[in-house]
Amino acid sequence: MEKCFKSGFVALIGRPNVGKSTLMNHLIGQKIAITSDKPQTTRNRIQTVYTDERGQIVFLDTPGIHKAKNKLGDYMVNVAEHTLREVDVVLWLVEPTTFIGAGERHIVEKLKQVKTPVILIINKVDTVEKTEVLKFIDTYRKIYQFAEIIPVSALKDINTDEVLNVLFRYLGEGPQYFDDDTVTDQPMRQIAAELIREKALRYLSDEIPHGIAVTIEKMSERKNGLFDIEANIVCERDSHKGIIIGKQGAMLKKIGSAARREIEALMGAPVNLQLWVKVRKEWRDNELF
Ligand code: GDP
Ligand code: MG
Repeated sequence: MEKCFKSGFVALIGRPNVGKSTLMNHLIGQKIAITSDKPQTTRNRIQTVYTDERGQIVFLDTPGIHKAKNKLGDYMVNVAEHTLREVDVVLWLVEPTTFIGAGERHIVEKLKQVKTPVILIINKVDTVEKTEVLKFIDTYRKIYQFAEIIPVSALKDINTDEVLNVLFRYLGEGPQYFDDDTVTDQPMRQIAAELIREKALRYLSDEIPHGIAVTIEKMSERKNGLFDIEANIVCERDSHKGIIIGKQGAMLKKIGSAARREIEALMGAPVNLQLWVKVRKEWRDNELF
């Protein structure tokens, strides 16, 4: 008899420095090749995949769920909040403390708006007394009905296997989205495209209200970790093209470098971004496009 293969998407949320990357590196360990071979630069890696004989877990790193003032601004907050609804499980990492700050309360409010099961990870338990941990569990249990609460130490690799065990309990039967040892860059492409579009719309504000789209033509990683990204800004009119490019390319440069900085922050890797402007009439009516 064949055993059922489980799969699903898990949003990883929590404050900066709470240990998300550390946990991810431990969970994924040697079993998986992430798109970069430099784990220390994964600070805002969008997506990592864990696969074993039980199934496949796709982790979505969602930076900036808790504060609108984070460096990627409202854009990422929106993405993050959206993510909560669309994933199968939310994994929320917190510090080992009984203090619940405004950031945590904000997250709880967001979680109450979705039906997704939430697993609370109390991380860094290596830094506190064992008896204390029960207090933290109790504090958190009072503010939200978590599916599970798991104390772990990502750094010391304590109880991290339990995280996987529990996750598999909450995932249903599903397809293997990715190869055993690869991770797609597709979501990264989408995010890159949206960031470029956002910057373009910001700088062009009045001149070209909505008539642009962004397509990513190429996205590849060099051996040294640098990403080459080629993208088209597609507009509706020839006159728009001139505006987007700007005097001696100044506008396009401005859009490009602002977008590049955010993509770099998001990917945790240097990016070489090349932008082109194309005119495609009536693209908005063209479903295929
Ligand atoms: P992120 O910003 O949430 O991705 O946090 P990181 O994974 O980058 O970790 C931030 C810091 O916390 C690093 O210095 C880690 O070594 C440390 N850290 C992460 N997990 C633990 C843990 O379980 N115990 C201790 N003592 N430190 C940890
Ligand atoms: Mg991180």
